[in-house]
Amino acid sequence: MKNIIILGSTGSIGVQTLEVVEKLDDKFSVLALACGANIQLLKKQIEKFNPKFVCVSNEKDALELQKEYKNINFLFGSNGLLELAKLDEYDTLVVATSGIVSVKAVLTAIEKKKTIALANKETLVMAGDIVMKKARENNVSILPIDSEHSAILQCLNKIDNPNAQRLWITASGGPFRNNSRDEMETFGANEALKHPRWMMGKKITIDCATLVNKGLEVIEAHHLYNFNYENIKVVIHPQSIVHSLVEFVDGSFLAQMGVPSMHIPIQYALTYPERYQGIKTNSFSIFNQKLEFLEPDYEKFPLLKLTIDCGKQGGVMPAVLNAANEVAVYKFINNEIKFLDIEKIVFDEVGKANNIANPTLEEIFEVDRLIREKLG
Ligand code: MG
Repeated sequence: MKNIIILGSTGSIGVQTLEVVEKLDDKFSVLALACGANIQLLKKQIEKFNPKFVCVSNEKDALELQKEYKNINFLFGSNGLLELAKLDEYDTLVVATSGIVSVKAVLTAIEKKKTIALANKETLVMAGDIVMKKARENNVSILPIDSEHSAILQCLNKIDNPNAQRLWITASGGPFRNNSRDEMETFGANEALKHPRWMMGKKITIDCATLVNKGLEVIEAHHLYNFNYENIKVVIHPQSIVHSLVEFVDGSFLAQMGVPSMHIPIQYALTYPERYQGIKTNSFSIFNQKLEFLEPDYEKFPLLKLTIDCGKQGGVMPAVLNAANEVAVYKFINNEIKFLDIEKIVFDEVGKANNIANPTLEEIFEVDRLIREKLG
């Protein structure tokens, strides 16, 4: 029996993680849940999974819940997340929060030698050097909850496989793959929010339309698997059946395939290196599948290259790009700017930024804060 803590339990990944846990209830027990302000859903989760600890965003919610559930310890805010990470009696910390709220909790859990199942992008994009250094020092596994990185892990067989030469990260190409730049100029949030393959939150769906998401995934892969950027390639695969590939020294390619479903990477991260039936996703038929693999158009999607370039530069540049992009994407979702204005804002901020070599966590957070304040 493994005890798990889920940070971000009411978000899309958190909910699906609990669906996996429910199916494998003889293997997992929920020690703690943390969420923001969706108290209604949280209560349902409390009643079903019986956690000993629960953390919410604000103190008022924590106090009210404490009156209702006397046997649970309620915590709140970022300190509450840290308290959860400091607990002894858990095995895996599932990080499904958005933004940077969980980074310190992740570092604390690593110091306690707990396994991290990571769905949050910012942790590695912004603080990958710091987090992975600590993970190596403590011999802790960071297991990805993301279809591409999970596919790579499944193909690698073991995290440091010396025979793996190149990582091929697949991208659906997003909703505008077949549109011209002139057409993109006219698009608003409605067009961009229609992702052809995956159902996801609004922010990540827009990041798929600009291909920033794929650039961020390249940065994550660089940190997770310790590969040089030169050996991490993006390949457009519109069918989203192959979730990524690994190329080996003998010229073999291994690919992981299946229907697009987050249950598979979530479950693999929880049960790694074992596999169980768990939630069996819609049956996948290998017959009549046509699989295409195309080169990305870096001129049509310049943010893909910029994102990877920021990763290569390292320091605070990924944080600069991430913050500017997030502010721009929310402006676009709120119909304040047009689609191609996202890249104008991001190119402008990245162009003006001064990099800091080997930044501390505080320096990274400060850069993030300043950009949000300036653009927000
Ligand atoms: Mg992904």
